[in-house]
Amino acid sequence: MTPERKQKLLQVLQRRQPDLTLIAERVHKPRNLAALLRNADAVGIHQVHTVAPKAGYRYSGTALGSDRWVSTQQHETFAEAAEAVRAQGMKIYAAHLSGRALDYRLVDYTAPCAILFGAEKQGVGEEAQAQADEHIIIPMMGMVSSLNVSTAAGIILVEAQQQRLAAGLYDQPRLSVEEIARCLFEWSNRKLALFCRDRGLAYPPYDGEGELIDAPGWNRRLQQGQVPRQDWSATPLL
Ligand code: SAM
Repeated sequence: MTPERKQKLLQVLQRRQPDLTLIAERVHKPRNLAALLRNADAVGIHQVHTVAPKAGYRYSGTALGSDRWVSTQQHETFAEAAEAVRAQGMKIYAAHLSGRALDYRLVDYTAPCAILFGAEKQGVGEEAQAQADEHIIIPMMGMVSSLNVSTAAGIILVEAQQQRLAAGLYDQPRLSVEEIARCLFEWSNRKLALFCRDRGLAYPPYDGEGELIDAPGWNRRLQQGQVPRQDWSATPLL
């Protein structure tokens, strides 16, 4: 990897917003999910949450986008996704066209929050509507009653980005130095990261820029079965 590329990755990670996320509830078209991930990356979201369109469904590589710069935590139900974001102190704002919805510009996106988007046809499910802290809406002035889900997400996320820019939340790194180093390692050594995760092994030692330290030594320990084990289930790959 060139130094310029490494610098770019570092700059991106230094602007990531770990307390802003989106939940895509039962969005089933791969191109819509890929567009949502692209929007999320563009405003510095570090991780998004998905709720499966049906039981047992796992989103494929196509839906998750070819450039995986945002990690995706896949949930079976909305309740699971809600529990994950609430555990991080986030409020949930449902982008949902209801009678109780506020104009999307009236919400404070500088506080920890998850913005919930619904499925292409059904919209946000009933349980999620009830559990959300607020409903938010982009006012519609034309003949059609709703926007495409990724268009709606783009509009709301840009408002969140503007509020966070004004509050200085992009000025200092918000991820820990350990998280930044791990992301740099995973982005620069994707196959090796997958190799370790598939086998439940700890990553080889790397420095603060994610560069391998003593790769031959690690290979030797691998051959000798001396690489420590690691449970990766709670740490989604970037
Ligand atoms: N018939 C569905 C409904 O009544 O909700 C329309 C779903 S819309 C195509 C897909 C998702 O995009 C919605 O669930 C919502 O999250 C988001 N969305 C679309 N237009 C929106 C708007 N004007 N305001 C807020 N969210 C919107």
